[in-house]
Amino acid sequence: MDEEQRLTAITERARDLLRELPDDVLLVAAAKSRTANEVAAAAAGGVTAIGHNYVQEAEAMRGALDVQLSWHMIGHLQRNKARAAVTLFDMIETVDSWRLAREIDKRCAPNGAIMPVLLEVNSAREQAKAGVLPEDVEALAVRVAELAHVRVVGLMTMGPLTDDPEAIRPYFAATAALFERLRRREELAADLRHLSMGMSSSYRAAVEEGATMVRLGTTLFGPRPNGRT
Ligand SMILES: *Cc1c(COP(=O)(O)O)cnc(C)c1O
Repeated sequence: MDEEQRLTAITERARDLLRELPDDVLLVAAAKSRTANEVAAAAAGGVTAIGHNYVQEAEAMRGALDVQLSWHMIGHLQRNKARAAVTLFDMIETVDSWRLAREIDKRCAPNGAIMPVLLEVNSAREQAKAGVLPEDVEALAVRVAELAHVRVVGLMTMGPLTDDPEAIRPYFAATAALFERLRRREELAADLRHLSMGMSSSYRAAVEEGATMVRLGTTLFGPRPNGRT
């Protein structure tokens, strides 16, 4: 396939995925290791939200694109990148500590901006994984909700590292139950509306379990090229 056919295929897959997903589920194109042309092809198919794992790569990509898109940080955010992140991203999906939330708040304050964030839940309780343990999410949500320049609008989870959607499903269900529990708290209810879960191998199970955002890379763009991470 030449470059043009490859880009056309991405546009068609974007259209197919948007047709398949329920209207109230947002497709976030996971763009790590992709080119600006590939992302533009997805946008041509109707994709409106881009997820990126790395601040600098996202910055370069955003500069190279002239389409209006919503940018989501979906990778682990280091506190020393928070300043750059708040000017670049429209949502940060990976807040997993009070210190990071406070840093985002501090970096938004000078512009009077409010950053919508998701709290990342370590639903599989994997030690090496980012994210807050499920039992600690509620306390963190209540505390972060008091920050003037950060708004907790939902939860995000990866689930365990496996391609078997049925093995991940219980973790999606548990995160959805946690989300519903948080929504019953008066101080959180008004803002909580997003549940980001599901990747290429698991998005159907995630939607069945209540996801309102799915983060898709491989199924949209094709396999990641060798050597690109
Ligand atoms: C890469 C990535 C995805 C998409 O993964 P695919 O399996 O390629 O769809 C989703 N979420 C995060 C946080 C990612 O880093």
